[in-house]
Amino acid sequence: MVNGEWQTSDQSFAVVNPANEVAICQVAEVTVHQLEQAILSADASLAVWQQLGDAARSQCLIDWQQLMRDNLQDLARLITLEQGKPLSEAKGEIIHAANYVKLYAQLAQDCRQAISIPASEGQTAQVLRQPIGVVTAITPWNFPCAMVLRKAAAAMAAGCSVVLKPSELTPLTAMAIAHLSIQAGIPKGVFNLVVGSNAQAIGEILTQHPKVAKFSFTGSTQVGRKLLQQCAFGIKRSSMELGGNAPFIVCEDANLEQAIKGAMIAKFRNAGQTCVSANRFLLHESIADAFIRGLTQAIEQLIIGDGQNETSQIGPLINQAALDKTTDLIQQSLSLGATLIVGGKAMSGKGFFFAPSLVDKVTAQMPLFQREIFGPVVAITRFSSDQEMITLANQSEKGLCGYLYSQDQKRIQQATQQIEVGLLGINVPRLSNIHAPFGGIKQSGMGREGGHYGIEEYLTYQYVCQQNGG
Ligand code: ADP
Repeated sequence: MVNGEWQTSDQSFAVVNPANEVAICQVAEVTVHQLEQAILSADASLAVWQQLGDAARSQCLIDWQQLMRDNLQDLARLITLEQGKPLSEAKGEIIHAANYVKLYAQLAQDCRQAISIPASEGQTAQVLRQPIGVVTAITPWNFPCAMVLRKAAAAMAAGCSVVLKPSELTPLTAMAIAHLSIQAGIPKGVFNLVVGSNAQAIGEILTQHPKVAKFSFTGSTQVGRKLLQQCAFGIKRSSMELGGNAPFIVCEDANLEQAIKGAMIAKFRNAGQTCVSANRFLLHESIADAFIRGLTQAIEQLIIGDGQNETSQIGPLINQAALDKTTDLIQQSLSLGATLIVGGKAMSGKGFFFAPSLVDKVTAQMPLFQREIFGPVVAITRFSSDQEMITLANQSEKGLCGYLYSQDQKRIQQATQQIEVGLLGINVPRLSNIHAPFGGIKQSGMGREGGHYGIEEYLTYQYVCQQNGG
């Protein structure tokens, strides 16, 4: 959607339902000309959007999120169709995304208030907060709604306009959201959606066009690194929300029942396809066997199936490549000495379903420890001291998220300071909070989304000093 109008082109690509491998529909490939038009119309709409005033801008966002709530069932079905997650999770994603938009509608009212600062005698000094300008963004397929809105709503609340490329694997939800933006009365050109399967070519334009002021990305570290290099040439401000490799630590004093329940959520939500998914289970050797017994029982009870069925608790992976990668990570680790307890392979029949799995005796040298799995696989490593626990937890170039289960306050305090992550859950498996700064350290990225931190990413300071009386 460019400047509020849906466009077509000579070429198209298929969007596939991962639960049955059937094409849902064909979507038109964006052309280079349309991409250019999208950026130019975003640039042209900046003045309109900013002149509307804070209250009217805020109202547009309020109306947008209300439309998402009004269309909850349809949007959820769309997410499940193209992404695979169970309907209940899809609904949760939409509500979460709508809550972000509502929060940013509220913050739009005063995020640009000028700040007076001390000045030399006879002078007045102020810090003004200006929208940075045209924002481009690329989002992934694992949260086709929330990732789009966490960026777009924050940018638009700040007074910026947006050109966004959703993942080619899940463009339909983003298209529905774009449709609702027009219904909400958001002026044409403020939110543009560009859809295409040639991510690299689109990315080059979105990161390098001279009218683009800021680029925001969520996706893999490998792609993020490339995009950051592309941004460097034009010194584009950029935010990168990249991959994780979350440790899920269970100490000897943890409440095991609580830890097992938490593990099921932190690992199997969205079939393990989230950047905050528990990736490396670090267990104190004294509780490891009991934890594995309990977790294996819970895994065996999981109901796997098409997310459209209300009973399904875990859906398919996104595509064949994801199935192959997950199988590979397990096979390579087994060949290096790990032990398979349950699962371990793709399920037979149509759809990209992978059996929920548990692999024991994983060491820091194995791919299951080193790589972000992005699949329903529990990989277990044991430790015998707090020092070893911290060393293992930090033995990753990523630093997005971590989980710690312990009942010992002193241990918790120490570990909190030592674990190198941007988000830490202590005895909780779910960290979602629209007010919190979401983002990582190390190679998990830079910048934050959520709360007022998220809006800062789209504002710039202008310091103004004026001589009084002339
Ligand atoms: P994942 O491994 O989760 O699929 P990716 O980083 O491959 O993550 O994809 C996230 C987003 O980045 C998607 O929208 C995808 O189309 C886009 N993307 C993938 N490769 C490139 C690239 N070379 N340049 C720009 N965007 C890319």
